[in-house]
Amino acid sequence: MKSFKADYVYPVCADPIKNGIVTVDDFGKIIAVIDPATLPEPYNAPVEQLSGIICPGFVNAHCHLELSHLKEKVKERTGLVNFIIDIQKTRGADAAEVLDAAYKADSDMYENGIIAVGDISNTNSTIGIKTASKLYYHSFIETFGFLPGRATEVFENALHLLNEFKPLPSSITPHAPYSVSKELFKLISKYSDTGHNLLSMHNQECEDENKFYRYKLGSFNDLYAHFGMDITFFKPQARNSLQSILPLLSSKQEILLVHNTCTNLKDIYFVKRFDRKIHFCFCPNANLHIEGILPKIELFIGQGYNITLGTDSLASNSKLCILSEMRTIQAKFPAISTQQLIQWGTLNGANFLGIDDERGSIEIGKTPGLNLISGLDGLKITPETKVKKLI
Ligand SMILES: [Zn+2]
Repeated sequence: MKSFKADYVYPVCADPIKNGIVTVDDFGKIIAVIDPATLPEPYNAPVEQLSGIICPGFVNAHCHLELSHLKEKVKERTGLVNFIIDIQKTRGADAAEVLDAAYKADSDMYENGIIAVGDISNTNSTIGIKTASKLYYHSFIETFGFLPGRATEVFENALHLLNEFKPLPSSITPHAPYSVSKELFKLISKYSDTGHNLLSMHNQECEDENKFYRYKLGSFNDLYAHFGMDITFFKPQARNSLQSILPLLSSKQEILLVHNTCTNLKDIYFVKRFDRKIHFCFCPNANLHIEGILPKIELFIGQGYNITLGTDSLASNSKLCILSEMRTIQAKFPAISTQQLIQWGTLNGANFLGIDDERGSIEIGKTPGLNLISGLDGLKITPETKVKKLI
């Protein structure tokens, strides 16, 4: 058993506690959360006194562990289409190199206070790491296939890979509106309607995705040409990508839309009117790396959405650290409080992954992990702010 006391405890499920005390058992289970101001007498039991905020372990809602070997290999700010072409060129590597980098990324995430990850997988390379990891992983088996004729084959390959991942938590998911045909969306939707199949899709990562869907113009045409694909079957939809594909997603499953860099208020209202269980995920450091822009995050606040945070992969980020994502958001949007960002980076991610019965908040009986955030300016995140994993 061990007790920690800090300037603040942020349980996330309840208001912050000034000079709060958290007690955990030897397995990391929370057995007490104490507000000393409510005690009749001073708290005298032994505590480890800390400076900063104690919060639950972080949930990284969007990552690609299997791309960890691409760290510093993909040029910055060339735009999404060039990024995709670069990834395809560089992702092939020696299996040992891929595994070494993924092992290191897994242990770095642990050190950075991350306890659970929503991880995109196109291959079986990370199964061993995930099986042995101290972190909880949900693997999204990602499908690519914009040519309608390939839908069945792509879906069956995904089913095969999903079976390799089982019994690890896993599901089949579409990659993005520009890389999945209507036919493939329908196969995934039909599959999702019958069982449990969490969905996580890259959404509106650049303006050209909307331009392609609206007018069939822009750099995505170059991408298909690069891969030698004939896309004469695709007709411009006269609306943004999200509005075009939302009806093709299952209404039975929780759906995480990732990036949302070029999602506008009209799209947000469209989603609201539609009967789909939408969550949003922001990965600001990856957006800066790839496109050099950030999503209009303030548009999403107060709309009733579950907002989560992700790191994306090391191909588009220098580290897999949720605190670093919070720092980038608060620097650009100072009105977004540290308390709000901590909720996005903990409970909301756990809620989407369906693990909030055990993780995501400091509540008696849960095993959320505990992080210490120190080096704040008041309650503001600064370049000096650090995270330390307590348990
Ligand atoms: Zn991604």
